[in-house]
Amino acid sequence: MSAILDELIQTAASLVTADLVRGAGGNVSARDGDLMWLSPSGFSLADASADDYPGIRIDTGRIDQGTNRPSSEVLMHLAIYRQRPDVNAVIHTHPPITIALTSSGHDLKPMFADYYVYLGRNVPHIPYVTVTTPELAVEVEKVAAAPDCHGIVLRNHGAIALGTSIKESYFRTLAIEEQATIQHAALQVGRPTFLSEAECDKLDRLGSESYRRELLARMRV
Ligand SMILES: [Zn+2]
Repeated sequence: MSAILDELIQTAASLVTADLVRGAGGNVSARDGDLMWLSPSGFSLADASADDYPGIRIDTGRIDQGTNRPSSEVLMHLAIYRQRPDVNAVIHTHPPITIALTSSGHDLKPMFADYYVYLGRNVPHIPYVTVTTPELAVEVEKVAAAPDCHGIVLRNHGAIALGTSIKESYFRTLAIEEQATIQHAALQVGRPTFLSEAECDKLDRLGSESYRRELLARMRV
């Protein structure tokens, strides 16, 4: 089995354990040469095995490996890989606090360093678009084209994390829901204080790459 697919399957199961998707919700993919492995339609991310994952050619969208129908968000995943050669993994989840907060008039904004270092300043919030439609893929494609876009919030739907590796996309997914959870808790007890532009600039100067590598070393899937 492809080592990439093996890691993707393990990460998919972790998303269920972390309560970021339920039932057959959410979908994950990883680039493997010319192919994209994408979770199959109708399976829980905790249940799908390697044989269940279709391998899809990124250039044509044709199914090259496997017999299962890919996730209905296949167009969204393809659009990201075609736009962003630096992206090797895409994780789409339905994190409950992120959905609650961003569907109630709030935008996620950094309140702690890890969120800023993982996601940066550009986390677009897309208004609701009907799930699984080509229109959703078009809206995601528009914002994902920016090279500094590492995460996207879909209001009334969920989140997407982009990464150069599966692990990076996974940690970005966790950081999005962690930010939403902290922001939500802060709103219960007072007015949240966000990191200022100057504080974010200072984090940039720290060298966010080396800081991120340090974070990656600390965290384990
Ligand atoms: Zn979804």
